[in-house]
Amino acid sequence: MSRAPRQVDVLVVGGGQAGLAAGFYLRRAKTDFVILDAYARPGGAWPGMWDSLRLFSPAPFSSLPGWMMPQPPGGGYPGAADTVAYLTAYEQRYELPIIRPVTVKAVRTGTRRLLVETDQDDWEARVVVSATGTWSRPYVPHYPGVGDFRGEQLHTVNYQRPDPFRGRHVVIVGGGNSAAQILADVSTVTRTTWATLRPPRLLPDDVDGRALFDLATRRHRAALAGRNDDGISGLGDIVAVPPVRDARDRGVLKSEPMFSRITPTGVTWADGSELACDVIIWCTGFRPALGHLAPLRLRGPGGLIPTEGTRAAGEPRLHLLGYGDWTGPASATLIGAARTARTMVTEILAQLQR
Ligand code: FAD
Repeated sequence: MSRAPRQVDVLVVGGGQAGLAAGFYLRRAKTDFVILDAYARPGGAWPGMWDSLRLFSPAPFSSLPGWMMPQPPGGGYPGAADTVAYLTAYEQRYELPIIRPVTVKAVRTGTRRLLVETDQDDWEARVVVSATGTWSRPYVPHYPGVGDFRGEQLHTVNYQRPDPFRGRHVVIVGGGNSAAQILADVSTVTRTTWATLRPPRLLPDDVDGRALFDLATRRHRAALAGRNDDGISGLGDIVAVPPVRDARDRGVLKSEPMFSRITPTGVTWADGSELACDVIIWCTGFRPALGHLAPLRLRGPGGLIPTEGTRAAGEPRLHLLGYGDWTGPASATLIGAARTARTMVTEILAQLQR
């Protein structure tokens, strides 16, 4: 006999940085809430990131509410392991009610509450916050011939360290920060080629994630005011963290246009030029992990769920936090999730009182 669903006021799906930021404000407001997280260990996506990854911003600007990330030993930009340690300590410090590993399979409409089906207990919640990130949905574009390639292909999510690529020619695809940092790493041990759709833009050495956050905020405000502010761009620009600067100084940070075809032994360009390679690393981004929300049928054009702030436009009992700018300025970052979570929880508390 199946058990009756458990009851809770607010159910947060996902215990990464976004889920923790929501948890901080929900706890402070003494809300009845729970966080369900699919992974067995704390830290969201961060434990899966490569060893040499550097954050875009110093620790004080990479922090969740209430408690700043400690400066990493030796100073500088924190790494992935520093971030895991911080998030692990954070959820303990605030005694956040996280249950893991629990995978939410589906969120459905009930008469008064949302029904949340998991691989363990089912739940009924007055409000659901979805904070499932993008890490579980890597995106690889299709190129002709991809199935014939006899070398190795991997995505950002599978990259850990450069050693396995020693002595092999590695093509790195993508014009963002992941590509630049992985290129910087791999090029310390072997030959690399960098293929990008557009010429990548490296930010000046003294501009980091703080400036990107300001840009995101200005762009968000402009959009809310109905302005299309063309002067506000650059969010895809590459932050010159120390390993990237080092790669630039070594002269390896040069990009080629995107190839048009993959062959069994390499890649070819539209002008007929060819390159033999052994490995292709796709640093081509992610899609939001929204599969559990499919039964609500809220997706709009482009596959995203239209939101007003964090609230789903078609289901006021659902909020989306993290993912990207469409749920709040820079809300996929630590500092952005923190600010967006605050506004979101204020709105949720008002909803609960109605
Ligand atoms: P995640 O960390 O992915 O957490 C989502 C959680 O949801 C996971 O724990 C997962 O188990 C859970 N989950 C997913 N689906 C389900 C389900 N169905 N049921 C239950 N649980 C589920 N960010 C910064 O803030 N600062 C930086 O300087 C920075 N630098 C970066 C540098 C690089 C090179 C890269 C690649 C990323 C960087 N980021 C940075 C971005 C950051 O890593 C991610 O955006 C961040 O991990 C997103 O947090 P999140 O909580 O939204 O999602």
